[in-house]
Amino acid sequence: MAVNKAKGTYDVLPSESFKWQALEHKIREITAQFNYLEIRTPIFEYSEVFHRQNELSDMVTKETYNFKDKGDRNLTLRPEGTAGVIRSFVENKLYVNDPLSKMYYIGPNFRYERPQKGRFRQFVQFGVEAVGSNDPMLDAEVIELAYHFIQSLGLKGVSVRINTLGDQASRKMFQDALKAHFEPVKHELCADCQNRIDKNPLRILDCKVDHRHEKVVNAPTPVMYLTEASKNYFDAVKRYLDQNDVKYVLADRLVRGLDYYEHTVFEIEAEIEGFGAQNVLGGGGRYQNLVKELGGPDLPGIGFAFGMERLLDALTQENIVFYEEQRLDVFGIAIDETHRSYLSQTLSLLRKEGYRATMDFNGKNFKTQLKNGLKTNARYLIIIGEDEYATNSVSLKDTTTQEQVKLSKDELINYLKEMRR
Ligand code: AMP
Repeated sequence: MAVNKAKGTYDVLPSESFKWQALEHKIREITAQFNYLEIRTPIFEYSEVFHRQNELSDMVTKETYNFKDKGDRNLTLRPEGTAGVIRSFVENKLYVNDPLSKMYYIGPNFRYERPQKGRFRQFVQFGVEAVGSNDPMLDAEVIELAYHFIQSLGLKGVSVRINTLGDQASRKMFQDALKAHFEPVKHELCADCQNRIDKNPLRILDCKVDHRHEKVVNAPTPVMYLTEASKNYFDAVKRYLDQNDVKYVLADRLVRGLDYYEHTVFEIEAEIEGFGAQNVLGGGGRYQNLVKELGGPDLPGIGFAFGMERLLDALTQENIVFYEEQRLDVFGIAIDETHRSYLSQTLSLLRKEGYRATMDFNGKNFKTQLKNGLKTNARYLIIIGEDEYATNSVSLKDTTTQEQVKLSKDELINYLKEMRR
C-alpha cells in the first residue's frame, strides 16, 4: 500500500532544497551582522512550556499536538519558537554571563490548523529573540533586522506595520475598555469570544469568526489607553526607526495572536499577488513577563518570527533569484563496462580537488549515459573509451560550447582550474 504524507505537511524535494539552503544562508548572514547567535532547542517540550496559565491564544489552547510518552510525561510539539528558547535561556542561565542574549533559530513548528495555501500543520520559522534589555533602541534594532532582511532579499511589496500595547497598566486599562465595549453584545459573539470577554478580550480582536462584527470593527484601540511612560517608549522606538531609515506604517489595531506581548508589536505584510489572506510573512513583539513565567529572573525580551514557506512563496512569486545555481561540474561516461573503474578513479581525483562529479550506476549503454549526463546539466562530460584508458587520459566535452579535448589526467586538473578562472 502506498502511504501519503500526513495532512498539512509537505516535502522539500531534492530539486527544491537548494532554495531553502540559500534562504537559510541569507538568514545566517543577516543575523550575524546584528550579532545574533543560533540556538537549537528540541521540537518537543514538556507541555507546561507552552500551556501556561496566562496563555489563552487559540494557537496554544486549540492547535497544539499534545501527547504522553511511555513514561506518562505530558509533551507538546512546539507550536512556536519563543517559549522553548526562553525555557532554554532560563534553564541554562544564559543571563549570568551576558546582559543581553541575542539568539536566532530556524526550525519546524506544529499547529493543528486547517491547511490551506500558506498554512501548514508543520511549517518552518526563522525567528530571533533578544533577551535582557528594556531599551527602546533594541525594539528598533529588532525591527530593523526584519526590515533589512526583507530588503536584502529584494522583496518589494512588503510593509512593516507597528503598534504598541503599552505597559501592563496600559494593557489593563485597554482590556477593561474592551470588556465594557463587548459586554452589551456578548450574546452576538461566537462561543469562544464570549469566553474571551472575561479571560482575555484582546483575543476577540483577531477572532476569525467575529472579525466583521460591527463592535469588533469599531473596538477601542490600545493607543487610547497608553500611560505617559508607554507613549514615550513608543515614541523613542519610532524615532530610532526613522533615524535608521526603517520604513514602517502605524497599525493602531494590530494586537498579535499571543498573550505575552507588551509595548511594541509588529507585523511584516506582503502585498503580493495571489497571497490573499496569508499575506503576513512574519511578526513579533516585546514580552516583559515570559522569562519570569518560565521560572527565570525578571528579564524582558523581544523577538519576531517569519514563516519560511511564505517567504519562499513570495520570492518565487516576485521572480527573485536569491540563490546561485548549483551545477554539477562533471558527469562521467564509460563507453564500455571495463572502463568504469578507471572512470570512478578519475572522478575521485576531481572530487579531491573540490569538483562535483558523478557517473552512471545503472549499467546504461553509452547513448543513455550521454542522455542522462546532459540531463544533469553538468558543465562537462568526461568520456572514457579504449583509447583514453590505454593512454591514461580523458576526453573532456564542454556541454555549452560542445568543444571536446583530450587531456592527460594531470592536464585535466589544470585545464579545469584554468576554465574556472
Ligand atoms: P505567528 O507565530 O503565528 O506569529 O506566525 C509568524 C509567521 O509564521 C506567520 O506570519 C507565518 O508566516 C508563519 N506561520 C504561522 N502559522 C503558520 C502555518 N500554519 N503555516 C505556515 N506558516 C505559518
